[in-house]
Amino acid sequence: MAFWPSVVVATPAHSGVGATLTYRSELSLAPGTLVRVPLGAREVLGVVWECPTEAPEGLSEAQTRAVASVLEGLPPLNARWRQLVRFAAQYYQRSLGEVALAALPPQLRDLSTVQLARRLKKQQVARAGGASAPADAPGQHAPALSEEQHAALTALEAATAPVLLYGATGSGKTEVYLQATEHALQSQADAQALVMVPEINLTPQLEARFRERFEPLFGAGALVCLHSGMTPAQRLAGWLAAHTGQARIVLGTRMAVLASLPGLRLIVVDEEHDPSYKSQEGARYSARDLAVYRAKVESEALAAAATTTAPARCRVVLGSATPSLESWHAAEQGRYLRLSMPARIGGGALPRLRVVDMNHQPKGALLAPPLVAAMAERIARGEQCMVLLNRRGYAPVLACHDCGWKSACPHCSAYRVFHKLDRTLRCHHCGFTERVPRACPECGNLDIAPVGRGTEQLEEQLAGLLADVQRPDGGPARVARMDADSTRLKGSLEVQLATMHSGEVDVLVGTQMIAKGHDFRRITLVAGINADSGLFASDYRAPERLFALLMQAGGRAGRDAAFVTRQGSESELWVQTWTPQHPLFDALRRHDFPAFAAQQLAERESAGMPPFGHQALLRADARTQQAAQAYLNAAAQAADGLPHRNDITLYPAVPLTIQRVANVERAQLLVEAASRGALQRFLNAWQPVLLACRSLPEARGLVRFAVDVDPLAI
Ligand SMILES: [Zn+2]
Ligand SMILES: [Zn+2]
Repeated sequence: MAFWPSVVVATPAHSGVGATLTYRSELSLAPGTLVRVPLGAREVLGVVWECPTEAPEGLSEAQTRAVASVLEGLPPLNARWRQLVRFAAQYYQRSLGEVALAALPPQLRDLSTVQLARRLKKQQVARAGGASAPADAPGQHAPALSEEQHAALTALEAATAPVLLYGATGSGKTEVYLQATEHALQSQADAQALVMVPEINLTPQLEARFRERFEPLFGAGALVCLHSGMTPAQRLAGWLAAHTGQARIVLGTRMAVLASLPGLRLIVVDEEHDPSYKSQEGARYSARDLAVYRAKVESEALAAAATTTAPARCRVVLGSATPSLESWHAAEQGRYLRLSMPARIGGGALPRLRVVDMNHQPKGALLAPPLVAAMAERIARGEQCMVLLNRRGYAPVLACHDCGWKSACPHCSAYRVFHKLDRTLRCHHCGFTERVPRACPECGNLDIAPVGRGTEQLEEQLAGLLADVQRPDGGPARVARMDADSTRLKGSLEVQLATMHSGEVDVLVGTQMIAKGHDFRRITLVAGINADSGLFASDYRAPERLFALLMQAGGRAGRDAAFVTRQGSESELWVQTWTPQHPLFDALRRHDFPAFAAQQLAERESAGMPPFGHQALLRADARTQQAAQAYLNAAAQAADGLPHRNDITLYPAVPLTIQRVANVERAQLLVEAASRGALQRFLNAWQPVLLACRSLPEARGLVRFAVDVDPLAI
């Protein structure tokens, strides 16, 4: 008897290859089985989607090729996983194969059946070794919860809707995640939990806390990580452990949302407002939104299979001190259950806001004198400070004041940033790097000068301004910098975090990287020094981002209430601005996120912006800007007469803010609809048109196009 499995293989999003390819097999293959199949002259990894006993109509045996091999020893990917992948592909307008194969560890593609069997065996041996019966009684390590934490945990475990855990910085959200995870894992022997964080490498403390708590309870292999910083071998091992159920907890970044977790009972999305949950390439999915969908699919399957009246569920918790307006709105509407934890653990106060009006400061000052004085006082008392400037390098531009030359990137419509430490001009968009020229390349003037400021310059200036300040031990004040440049070398981030924790460093200067999640115990002052750049960006989400960043940065101050009291100190958040009257600062002063969210949501509603309206971008990359825009406009014209065309608005094509990157011209076209359903129906109808438009004469020079559904920036 012959079978005709339809198999999903990695195909580029718009390759025109159908969703699945039909093969032949002597065996019946369960849907979700991993196989190797011939494709052209190659043999590729594929996932069996269905396995009918009859050939699809019009397809003869001669027209199909046989499945080359089956990856033995691996259980099939289950129906819930396949449903998640199908949904993600359809919603984000990508091919099924692209999403499905991207969700598998890359190394799985290259392994032969024999190599895989060896890998699985190795893992089983490790399991047998690691699974020595846990010595400790469950829950032994868990600290007592505050009343607020306890109430949140209880409500979370009774919830049937997605939970928005709205907790102030320092309110102890992590402990709630830990105990919810423990309860979920103890509910059933094969239960699993997925815990997602924006950037795992930035917060090694979190991973350590999870390991410390759960390895004694569930064995050494109970927790695996999944993120893009791992080697291919580590990723494969982590994925296999999750897929076979050996790992009970997966701690990962956005990619982990698509991991195979057959026993999934809890999903945590920490810092759910963080933009890094939205992928910016390939299938541009939102891991937060997929997490909510995934929990629903898992819960429905559990309910369908249940024999009791109170079936198990898969819960999803979105946590933040400054939730995304999308999630906040969902909670206002009652679609999400909002649980609040306003108090900080240890009773510490949130930092007091000090707004510095830069109109009244000495001209050209990077740091206002009162801010420098406040920092000096704190350093002298043995407290630490943190200064945030969201621009790395020494200066964003190098310029000649004689002829007007500027350090433009030859490949991008952007300036190259001046890095003083290694005397380079670096393009932060394409990476093009050159030595700083001795003289102006245009006119030979020797006096070329930096314009504007970055973190390197801030570090240099602060070291100068604080040169005479003494620490309590008599030593000079020490300033350190932490950004993508200073942490490029492996291990350097850990070293820098350690010097901050140990108190060797008095002032930490850096980009938003320093605002994220760190639990520095002795910081009492945090300063944001170019807040305005966020307020006047054209992006409508800019105020939301700035508010979240400042709240989060401020949250690094005064985390140890006992320390602050002992010091007789008070924690403060300083903000330098040219527009101190902006309403955002009022809400920030009162730590009043609900008021800020209400005001922003009212603005969005009157403008029909998300979450009240729904958007997608059609983006085009081409060799000329003209071709990029011509393609987009042709695609818009060709949409006339399509079903659901009248439910949406198509805007004219426009260049991106940075229109050329690495010699590719970029343009986009905005699609708007009043409802998510209308937008989806139109995009589905439009997809074949977008493919067809590639071959129009005016689109000659088009490199690629992509649809971005629910874009974060327009
Ligand atoms: Zn010049
Ligand atoms: Zn460049």
